[in-house]
Amino acid sequence: MSQTTYLRVAIPVPLPKAFDYLPDQRFTAAAYPVGARVLVPFGRTQKLGVVLEHVQSADVSSDKLKHVEPPIDSEALLDQTHLAFLRWAASYYHHPVGEVVTAALPLRLRKANAPLPLAEQRYFLAAESVGIVEQLGRAHKQRELVEWIAAHGDHGVEQTTLKQHAGSALIKKLVDAQHLLLKESAPIKSEYVPQRSPHQLNEEQQAAVDAVAQQLNQYAAFLLQGVTGSGKTEVYLRLAEQVLAHNKNVMILVPEIALTPQLQQRFAERLGEGVLLMHSGMKDTEREIAWQRLRLGLARVVLGTRSLMLNPMAELGLIVVDEEHDPSFKQQEGFRYSARDLAVVRASRAKCPVVLGSATPSLESLRNVEQGRYQRLLLNQRAGSSKPPSMHLVDLRDQPVQNGLALPVIDEIQATLNKGEQVMVFLNRRGFAPVLACYSCGWTSDCPRCDARQTVHQAAHRLWCHHCGSQQALPQKCPSCGEHDLHPLGQGTEQLDQSLQARFNDIPLVRVDRDAAAKRGALEKLLDSVHQADAALLVGTQMLAKGHHFPKVTLVVVLDADSGLFSADYRATERMAQLLMQVAGRAGRGELPGRVLIQTRYPDHLLLQTLVNHGYEAFAQAALQERLEADYPPISHHVLLRAEANKMDPTMQFLNKVTQWGKAHTDQSVSFWGPVPAPMTRRIGRYRGHLLIQSSSREALHGFLSQLEMYLAESKLARSVRWSLDVDPADHF
Ligand code: ADP
Ligand code: ZN
Ligand code: ZN
Repeated sequence: MSQTTYLRVAIPVPLPKAFDYLPDQRFTAAAYPVGARVLVPFGRTQKLGVVLEHVQSADVSSDKLKHVEPPIDSEALLDQTHLAFLRWAASYYHHPVGEVVTAALPLRLRKANAPLPLAEQRYFLAAESVGIVEQLGRAHKQRELVEWIAAHGDHGVEQTTLKQHAGSALIKKLVDAQHLLLKESAPIKSEYVPQRSPHQLNEEQQAAVDAVAQQLNQYAAFLLQGVTGSGKTEVYLRLAEQVLAHNKNVMILVPEIALTPQLQQRFAERLGEGVLLMHSGMKDTEREIAWQRLRLGLARVVLGTRSLMLNPMAELGLIVVDEEHDPSFKQQEGFRYSARDLAVVRASRAKCPVVLGSATPSLESLRNVEQGRYQRLLLNQRAGSSKPPSMHLVDLRDQPVQNGLALPVIDEIQATLNKGEQVMVFLNRRGFAPVLACYSCGWTSDCPRCDARQTVHQAAHRLWCHHCGSQQALPQKCPSCGEHDLHPLGQGTEQLDQSLQARFNDIPLVRVDRDAAAKRGALEKLLDSVHQADAALLVGTQMLAKGHHFPKVTLVVVLDADSGLFSADYRATERMAQLLMQVAGRAGRGELPGRVLIQTRYPDHLLLQTLVNHGYEAFAQAALQERLEADYPPISHHVLLRAEANKMDPTMQFLNKVTQWGKAHTDQSVSFWGPVPAPMTRRIGRYRGHLLIQSSSREALHGFLSQLEMYLAESKLARSVRWSLDVDPADHF
């Protein structure tokens, strides 16, 4: 008798295991390839899972085993390599494997839908390009376009790519003259057409490119530490070109920013039609097509945010993580992975290099350099002719201050604008004011659901909580005592925008923050107008700090550097230093030198002093030393068990119970801190607490977590709260 083969299936349920099934009676296991989707009975419902393995013995007795439905996919959607990577990720983050595997599928394919067809609309030349060019005579633009299309080989050019490259009027002329035909075609592997690089690499860039290029066919991890404007992107481009020329593909991760078109444009110009963009604004169907193109190796280069790391990708030859220190690479809910850390693991499994780039590397990455796990490549000079900006602290004590700006700072802004140069004013708080207060009775705009205040948004006439989104109309009189004595306290970007407009009323001003970015097209137009203008003011939150290149900005003002200095979170200082350097990096990127003014009430603070006088590297070394002395990450390792419930008691009872259990089930190598109520105890109406689990041994920690996972899956108390495990948490809130 032949042996039965069982299907081990990953199902998206919050349990730390996969589940065994029998094939449908009319099929054998072979009809369900590993990596294919399958519908399975689960409790009283049906769920869609992914076949993880074919196994010879099931983990429950065979009379209890159920049959799956007939096959959905005849082929795997997730190949073995990618499945193995996802399973590794699930085990590292102690997150249910079914949820991790499902997260790697596009939305439509998380149900039993057939994948979308991949046919493309492509433009083809109607005849040999030489002939067409001859006929076109002096129509230079049309001739150029014909030659550009011809350079892509016989497959023509995909329609959206052509539209990105040329104006629709130009395309229409060629179509009308029947030189160009639009046809539906089977999916085609994007052609890589080498372009000429506009720059000669400088010595440091060349050394960085060479170091990586020597190890293109094996795993190696690099930290590309280059000051802002040092030409890191040019290094990525050169490496990508080499990888493409070797017929391998490139994945580039970027932080979550509403405004990456500049970067995408640079990549698309140099690397051609194979450059795919994956972002949150895509429609589900667009996303699925992109997902398929990557999986099948049809797209050659992809630029995307965090979740791209879960996407299958054929023939991976290089992974780049730009701005590797950026907190947005860490997913903060559900499957709490770090896309940066997974990039390193993925590269090692794909046997290809990974390049982590930043002007302000995370302490984790610097530690990895110290320990020999990453090779460091330094770019200390700005590329081209621009010079690094000079940084100065402005003491806010005993100074006249107007609308949050010290008078000498206002004078400098004026002087800069007078010279026809641009100024960037940075305040990391959006809205008009963080609180509305009544001077008669002391009422404040507390959020009804969080331990936080509702922010005043004046233009929108609303009070709005930035944590839970609760909103209400801006009250005209005090909701508590009825007096007309309400006053906004403190300052956000909206207010700064207003006061600067009033003060410098003949100067164009653009505000960049999440509220302004909501009107996306409008904002891009405004930014364009700044590029055209001479004197101009840019006001914004950290959104303004990321990636933008404004060559005429020569003065950067940071309104309040102090919020990061005394936070409960030990990472706050690192974050603040990174932000300050990124903001400062916006100054003097063109021909003119830049100045950075940082307003503070603590000009003697050691961190600020080190940063301003000795630079980020010196700061980072000092901060690492502090972490070493306190035995904090990246020296030791943290896991946060978070819990929340609609009252405080069940939350703390649960956490206390786990702590007791934990202490009884581990040795000295794992320690427990807490449990304590979370710094923001009430959020979205729920009461939150956490237990910090720490160890200097990853092995000991993971051994313990595996036990804990089982314990939590079975614990009754765990069902009275909502809990989550966060491995390598990015914050403690
Ligand atoms: P980073 O990403 O390190 O901040 P970028 O790659 O954006 O820096 O480069 C900053 C500017 O310098 C860009 O305008 C880029 O075109 C230019 N640049 C890069 N490399 C060179 C080079 N070798 N020579 C001249 N200009 C360069
Ligand atoms: Zn009042
Ligand atoms: Zn709230």
